[in-house]
Amino acid sequence: MAGKKVRTRMAPSPTGEYHIGHIRTLLYNWAFAKKIKGDFILRIEDTDRERYVEGATERILEVIKSYGFDWDEGPEIGGPYEPYFQSKRLEIYQKYSQELIDKGAAYHCFCSEDRLAKMREEQKTRGIVSTKYDRFCLKLTKDEVVKNLENKLPYVIRMKVPDNKVVSFNDIISDKISVSSNEIDDQVLIKSDGFPTYHFAVVVDDHLMKITHIMRGNDWIPSTPKHVLLYQSFGWELPYFAHIPNLKEMGAEKKLSKRYGAVGAKEFLDEGYLPAAVLNYLMFLGWSPDTEKEIYTLEEFVKDFSIEKIHKTDLVSFDRKKLLWMNGQYIQKLTDENFAEVSLKFAPEGIDKKFLIKIASLVKSRLKTLSELKDLIEFFVKKPKVDKKILGESWEKHLRSAKSIIEKEDSWSLEDLNDNLMKEIEEKGFKTGKFFMDLRIAITGKKETPPINDSIIILGKDEVIERLNSVLSIKP
Ligand code: GLU
Repeated sequence: MAGKKVRTRMAPSPTGEYHIGHIRTLLYNWAFAKKIKGDFILRIEDTDRERYVEGATERILEVIKSYGFDWDEGPEIGGPYEPYFQSKRLEIYQKYSQELIDKGAAYHCFCSEDRLAKMREEQKTRGIVSTKYDRFCLKLTKDEVVKNLENKLPYVIRMKVPDNKVVSFNDIISDKISVSSNEIDDQVLIKSDGFPTYHFAVVVDDHLMKITHIMRGNDWIPSTPKHVLLYQSFGWELPYFAHIPNLKEMGAEKKLSKRYGAVGAKEFLDEGYLPAAVLNYLMFLGWSPDTEKEIYTLEEFVKDFSIEKIHKTDLVSFDRKKLLWMNGQYIQKLTDENFAEVSLKFAPEGIDKKFLIKIASLVKSRLKTLSELKDLIEFFVKKPKVDKKILGESWEKHLRSAKSIIEKEDSWSLEDLNDNLMKEIEEKGFKTGKFFMDLRIAITGKKETPPINDSIIILGKDEVIERLNSVLSIKP
């Protein structure tokens, strides 16, 4: 591998929605390729026809792009090792499985599902937990195989795992991993529908596509010895393996679960997380720099990232609170123009980009996600329902006083409105906090809103007086 151009890859399976953990794995692969001036390849592993989900590939590509990633080779753009969809490479897998058969490293298996189920049952009654194929078909003579094939008996191709061999590989993160080949099942390589299994296709393609570094979740460690055996059977050079820690819920043993909130990469965006904030958070899930620096752009991450600094731990905690905080930080730092752009789709009906620019500085610091925007600013376009029970005991006096001040001018400057209200509060001996809370509730229906005096100015005198009258039950 030394001296070769670095090539990393992400190989999504369109069997469901893209997970936030996939984005973290993609981020590391992408950043490493960028850092070393290598190539990042995207390959669609769509060989599991039973679990195939219609439209999933398109959605996966879409969400990868919405997080701001691109790829050097893969779907939509092609590349020198086309096609990048495994379902379009069936002939390639046929050819390579035949090569293994010819070498005695794979064999045809004609066992029916029924026989295999009985075999597994029988092994379980003997106390075997991880059942293995009993190599019934390995005993078939060449002639028997030819006859079965001529008779068009359904078959799979299995890998012939050598006996009593130590299978090892060096993992950049977990160091050396070794298992005995006796623990490895004669894995199916080609299924009866002619499609390859993941294990076979991944090895063939990673080799043919000249992938140098395989970085993926450490739940794939148990599969890697099978892959190593395949590389060895073909006589191919092993790539570097780097198995990265998987994500788990903070404070729980388990992997991310919908019970705790979003898990889909798109779900986070739909809930009003900014891609840059999510990525900044994901960078630290299994990696950290030598400094205290916490806020990272993608470019800075590319500069500082290295596989050696990935944590040697099994699982890392996904801290939803920290992500929320991070997102709030990113929202606050948006320019007013950018804020309006990204938040428009979260705004209530009747609010346009221009209006969002106007109120941006009043609301940015009050949001942790953009989906909170609607609730926060709806009062600008919709008269509130005021629950009088939440008003303070002096509410009537407060509202009448406020009204008398606001009525005085057609359009107030913020400073004058503030001064005049404060003067009134002082003269009448009101409590400032209580006065403004009643005013806020009467105008917005809520206890938490953007600054109320700014809001009054934006709403305009007529609208504010109408709202105050309505709470005071004064008919026009
Ligand atoms: N297609 C596999 C997946 O869905 C790829 C695993 C790997 O990176 O080898 O995760």
